[in-house]
Amino acid sequence: MKKERKFILVAGGVMSGVGKGITTASIGKILQDYGFKISTVKIDPYINYDAGTLRPTEHGEVFVTYDGGEIDQDLGNYERFLNKKISKDNNITTGKVYKTIIKKERAGEYLGKTVQFIPHVPEEIIRRINLVADKEDADIVVIELGGTIGDFENIPYLFAMKSLEKTFGKDSVTYVLVTYLPVLQNVGEMKTKPTQQSVRLLSQNGIYPDFIICRGREELDEPRKKKIEVYANIPTENVISAPDIKTIYRVPLNFEKEDLGKKILEKLNLKPLKKPERKFWIKAVNNIEKPKNKIKIAMVGKYVDIGKYSIADSYISIIEALKHASAKFNIGVEIEMIDSKLLEKNKSLNFNFDGILIPGGFGASGVEGKIKAIEYARKDKIPFLGLCYGLQLAVVEYSRNICNLKAHTTEINKKIPDSVIDVLPEQIEILKNNNYGATMRLGEYAAILKKGSIVYELYKTSSRLKKDKSEIESIAKSEQKFRLGKLKKDDIAILERHRHRYEVNPKYTETLEKHGLIFSGYHHRLDNIKLMEFIELPKEKHPFFVATQAHPEFKSTLLKPSPLFEGFVKACLRNKKN
Ligand code: GLN
Repeated sequence: MKKERKFILVAGGVMSGVGKGITTASIGKILQDYGFKISTVKIDPYINYDAGTLRPTEHGEVFVTYDGGEIDQDLGNYERFLNKKISKDNNITTGKVYKTIIKKERAGEYLGKTVQFIPHVPEEIIRRINLVADKEDADIVVIELGGTIGDFENIPYLFAMKSLEKTFGKDSVTYVLVTYLPVLQNVGEMKTKPTQQSVRLLSQNGIYPDFIICRGREELDEPRKKKIEVYANIPTENVISAPDIKTIYRVPLNFEKEDLGKKILEKLNLKPLKKPERKFWIKAVNNIEKPKNKIKIAMVGKYVDIGKYSIADSYISIIEALKHASAKFNIGVEIEMIDSKLLEKNKSLNFNFDGILIPGGFGASGVEGKIKAIEYARKDKIPFLGLCYGLQLAVVEYSRNICNLKAHTTEINKKIPDSVIDVLPEQIEILKNNNYGATMRLGEYAAILKKGSIVYELYKTSSRLKKDKSEIESIAKSEQKFRLGKLKKDDIAILERHRHRYEVNPKYTETLEKHGLIFSGYHHRLDNIKLMEFIELPKEKHPFFVATQAHPEFKSTLLKPSPLFEGFVKACLRNKKN
């Protein structure tokens, strides 16, 4: 373990949803720009083991890591900002902490001691934080504490931070409190009281914030900064104003206007290791804010049952991936969420969009509406991108309308004569036992692409191609997880993330191919089963009709957009009607 390791805790006051995740990602990004190796950790104090069984409309999207974790969407922001792969272990939940402790206790590893809330729970938390930091050889760990200061379930984590202070020294830990300053409509005045109260709540745990990030609709004015300074007993320059802005990617740049990076480093007794190079980041942010062209995309999904979170939160990675690709080409993207259930009732579709995207999904609700939208995109030659369920339903549509099959996915109809999308035998066994946690095809899988296809051409020019290829080769060599064969110089193998149970039924690929559907990439399992990863229609027949069984949105970052999303937005621009 590194002796000199530093820790930053980002906690939230006043209420949830104030932007702790973006603050954590931004601080990580800034310090990474100064040359440090950064680990980011998200703590979710709930008892669920992971986010896999949480409803996206209640908790936001379930993000999938390369190593198959189903985790909180904030980790997606860390990847998008830091441009690095983050493991499922970077998400610590109370469920995970307790599971380990109970397992250890049952195995007699506590050697007869009474296992207690203090010290054993904070000890396990610290073990997990350092495990992640060691694996990434981190200089600085930025830890986001979920929930709001004052929540009972946060207490062991605050204890853990105090204990880190004891082990590594006082100048090794910095506390950042993110709060919200409401403006009362009738008075028109920004209120600091809730911030003052959260400082007090934090101090009850022996923790005093070093920095307070003040979120609000507007910029924080000097009198209010002073008020917070006096109450929280921190210098005014450590009270950072963070008003609402157009794009989250502007946040690190705004923080840097107040020199937050250098101030944090100073508090941690560190000096910048290099001068930040932010040219590409600034260009991408400017492009998002001031696009030259505009495209309008229909995202046809299941938008019912909206709980605490907005629709956008359930599809955050797709929305961000569209933004990343558009930023690269200076295209502004307007996304309209269309409830597929409503489309089911329409006899014919005639909406004015430059592209249609069908995201991932589960279950029967609105499925026929999605299939109708796919048929419309195919026939009217509107650029189409299908993701996971989007691919499966595109295969169903093609099978029904072109191959004349009585087709469906067995997820919806188990008795359908042509089960073109079906579950794999091993999944049937798992489902028999009602085992729904972490039992899908999860995480990164390698796909070999068909030469000359649209998908092949898109990945060929992608900046991450080389890295993917060498990673795939080393996994193939060391773990024997899949077949790769000997890759020739111009063969392309790529890695994308997955989260699904159903697959294109191998029995139907030949028929579909005969009728003109191209399977442009597959995953080759050791048992010789080939799982179809990409489909497309020939360029001569359609401007852009591409779908993937994977979720490429999870790998897209601001500086390295997903090749498929790049292809899609470019096609939408070319296809633009007015
Ligand atoms: N419901 C489909 C399956 O489980 C697709 C899942 C998804 O789109 N993530 O295979």
